[in-house]
Amino acid sequence: MINRKIVMIPGPTPVTRSIQEAAGRETWAFGDPGFVKDYKGIIEDLKSLWRCDGQVFVVAGSGTLAMEMAIANNTKPGDNVLVISHGFFGDRFSDIARRKGLNVDLMQSEWGAIVPVAEIGKKLEEKQYAAVTATHVDTSTAVMAPIHEIGMAVKQKSPGAIYIVDGVAATAGIDEDMEKSGIDVLLTGSQKAFGVPPGLAMVFANSRSLARRAEAGETIPEYYVDYEKWLPVMDDPLKYFATPSVNLVWALKEALEIIKHEGLDNRYARHAKNGAAVAAALETLGFTILAEKPWRAPTLTTALYMDGVDDAKFRSVIQEEGVIVAGALGKYAGKAFRLGHMGNTDTHDLVCAIAAIERTLHRLNACVKLGSGVGALMERLV
Ligand code: PMP
Repeated sequence: MINRKIVMIPGPTPVTRSIQEAAGRETWAFGDPGFVKDYKGIIEDLKSLWRCDGQVFVVAGSGTLAMEMAIANNTKPGDNVLVISHGFFGDRFSDIARRKGLNVDLMQSEWGAIVPVAEIGKKLEEKQYAAVTATHVDTSTAVMAPIHEIGMAVKQKSPGAIYIVDGVAATAGIDEDMEKSGIDVLLTGSQKAFGVPPGLAMVFANSRSLARRAEAGETIPEYYVDYEKWLPVMDDPLKYFATPSVNLVWALKEALEIIKHEGLDNRYARHAKNGAAVAAALETLGFTILAEKPWRAPTLTTALYMDGVDDAKFRSVIQEEGVIVAGALGKYAGKAFRLGHMGNTDTHDLVCAIAAIERTLHRLNACVKLGSGVGALMERLV
């Protein structure tokens, strides 16, 4: 009998009971001193944990809104922008930038591989870019970009550029020290490695990025995502610009308590260990991991089916087995599935997920030795 659904898609990720309870509190007025203190507290925590010397914007919205906020405040029409893409979400940056009338140079890798940093370096020598974007983990391919090395290349070859990193499928699961890696803008959403329900967009803007926005003058065409509208609120959340998502702010506060208790470095190490264990388990079962080994993300895995396994059947049977996984995107749709393993996903979830995959393969008459995937997983987790 199955009476729990374990959500193992790459976001939203499992939400622990204490975070659910924080989100389920009676909603207070956003001007309530208790809420104002909590909101201020999370902004300060985010700034110090990610070493952001500017401001962190936490607003109602999703990851895409955070991407839009990053582009809106750091570029103006006609600017040159370099977009480094390792899949579907990297490409989204070029869509957003083109709509704003930016001159986009798009460097795309084959899905599963990365754009070599040396090639990025050469491109950066060709012209001056106002901004460079990179997606830390592209959630289509589960490829992790070498964002530190890219950041060093940007600082060296195009020091005037603002380096924007999409951390939607990475932040709080993989190291993104803004100072160390030269990241000017880090953006993310609540529903992935923070383990909070969907609905909060977060943009960490350093002092260079705030200065870039200030240079653009009093107004920019965008309204809701304009830094200038939110700066007074982030400084003093008693002020109003647009209604904050009160309950999700509380959920994020609880998520940050969990993160501080675990310690960011321990959290990153746990993600690395879990990611390697999941990859080993899936390979033992006969799947092929799409991402080349050095670039495999610790936060999710895209796995190609073995011959004879039908995507629609696989995903519907595994759902009956109590685990939800995601389909693949782009040219891998129907050929692969995606398994999230980030945030507060724990050993129980991982064991359940791999065991459900085994049961599913068994029900689909695929060749599987029951227990072999769980065994490979457990060997790496103990
Ligand atoms: N960037 C990445 C890397 C993502 O994985 C996603 C969502 N899967 C987005 C951006 C867009 O975020 P959202 O769906 O929350 O708008």
